[in-house]
Amino acid sequence: MRVLILGGTAEASALARLLAGETWVAPVLSFAGRTVSPVLPPIPSRIGGFGGAEGLAAYLRAEAVDLLIDATHPFANQISINAERAAEATGMPRLVLQRPPWIATPGDDWHYVPDVVAAAAALGKAPRRVFLTIGRQDLLPFQAAAHHFYLIRSVDQPDPALLPPHVEILTGRGPFTEASDRALMERHGISVLVTKNSGGTDGKLRAARALGLPVIMVDRKPAPRGETVAAPEAAVTWLHAHAETLRGA
Ligand code: NAP
Repeated sequence: MRVLILGGTAEASALARLLAGETWVAPVLSFAGRTVSPVLPPIPSRIGGFGGAEGLAAYLRAEAVDLLIDATHPFANQISINAERAAEATGMPRLVLQRPPWIATPGDDWHYVPDVVAAAAALGKAPRRVFLTIGRQDLLPFQAAAHHFYLIRSVDQPDPALLPPHVEILTGRGPFTEASDRALMERHGISVLVTKNSGGTDGKLRAARALGLPVIMVDRKPAPRGETVAAPEAAVTWLHAHAETLRGA
């Protein structure tokens, strides 16, 4: 049973680890190619775009894929739209594997914004010391809020052309713990955290909570339509159910 997993997330990589060595399934994990040195999974993988929904549909047909799992990041909206369209065009069963969003707890001082442009504006007129953890692709809007200091953390070094003037860059791959993020924020005198509501490990949010710091939270767009699970183990269950159906056919 041939399965294409659209990845780039911890969940996709965890699913790949669960399927490694299994003989009833032939999975391929697909990466967009954004990360300079991705952690390669213990299953076959491919890197690079397909050429839109049509290109993805053509790939599914050419590779005789049986099932599609969209395990991309909650903020990777285009590839999820493409996955939905390609699955429709090819009549292919599709599962969405997506981690749930973070939810504020009582006492949290979270300010929800619809996108990164609004996040930059929400920082306000008075200079602040910002811990910015939104990845390296969406930094340009913060040039419009150049009076703040930004501690920017991303997996790879950001493009200098996207950066606001007062920055310090930290590269690193999570997950990060509450203790280390708390120490980091204290060391840099951070006064506000800006993040996307990615879900998953929440060390920085716990640290902000412990320090009584406000959080500017970029909201998700509506989730992809269709059958959705949150855990890689549930995706394996879905695959098993389809394997039974295919065997019976
Ligand atoms: P996006 O805007 O949804 O997708 C842009 C294009 O990148 C897609 O149209 C597709 O190109 C290609 N693409 C995206 N994911 C792909 C995949 N898994 N395999 C092959 N091609 C893929 O995506 P994005 O927000 O730039 O994110 C890129 C990747 O990084 C995603 O795989 C995502 O899971 C991961 N990621 C994103 C974020 C985030 O905050 N956006 C955070 C962590 C990880 P074609 O149209 O040519 O097929």
